[in-house]
Amino acid sequence: MTIKERYGFVVDYFSKHRPQAETELAYNNPFELLVAVILSAQCTDKRVNLITPALFRQFPDAESMAAASVEEIFSLIRSVSYPNNKAKHLKGMAEMLLRDFNSEVPERIEDLVKLPGVGRKTANVIASVVFNQAAMAVDTHVFRVSARLGLTRNAKTPLEAEKQLMKYLPNAIVPLAHHWLILHGRYVCMARNPACTACDLKEICLHFKGKKGIKTSLSKPTKAKQSAASIVKKKNKLI
Ligand code: SF4
Repeated sequence: MTIKERYGFVVDYFSKHRPQAETELAYNNPFELLVAVILSAQCTDKRVNLITPALFRQFPDAESMAAASVEEIFSLIRSVSYPNNKAKHLKGMAEMLLRDFNSEVPERIEDLVKLPGVGRKTANVIASVVFNQAAMAVDTHVFRVSARLGLTRNAKTPLEAEKQLMKYLPNAIVPLAHHWLILHGRYVCMARNPACTACDLKEICLHFKGKKGIKTSLSKPTKAKQSAASIVKKKNKLI
């Protein structure tokens, strides 16, 4: 199988089974998504979604968040990971939006990464989700699933993985592919115990093939007969 055929297989599969994939973070506008993505670093989307309604009620825009104290922001985000740093980042981010970007979330990745708390991954998420740009945000799920499926080869860093993915994915598919790989990693191809028996991609998966000769639970006929797509449907109401 050539690398192009491999990408084609994966794109065809997800296009058919997850045409509507999108972020699990709750938001109503670009500012709220930016805040939610900053909060989601090293934290689950579920946890972030629990605290953002109160946070957005209190600070609905860059002006109100910039005017708040770090302590006020901290008190509303204390249950996420690294609340001290994130409170400082949110205030700094809001101040910069106000000062340099007319209170709007900028479109360009070069501008987004200037904001406190915004690295390349966060910038790519905003560019992709808000502005529908061909930007591939590589988080831990995207990195792992891409490597297992052979979409990336020997990538050592998220940036290397991003470059390889961008080389072969059609631009129009990139925003969707980001969510495909995240959701697959979150609900099927988990880090420790991937549900390979139920995974519809196993016939092309390098990780699965590598394990085939080894005695593992993968070779046992388990009760996991349902397809990967149906697992996601159950666990993820987005689809
Ligand atoms: S076969 Fe297993 S390792 Fe490969 S993508 Fe599916 S769940 Fe992940």
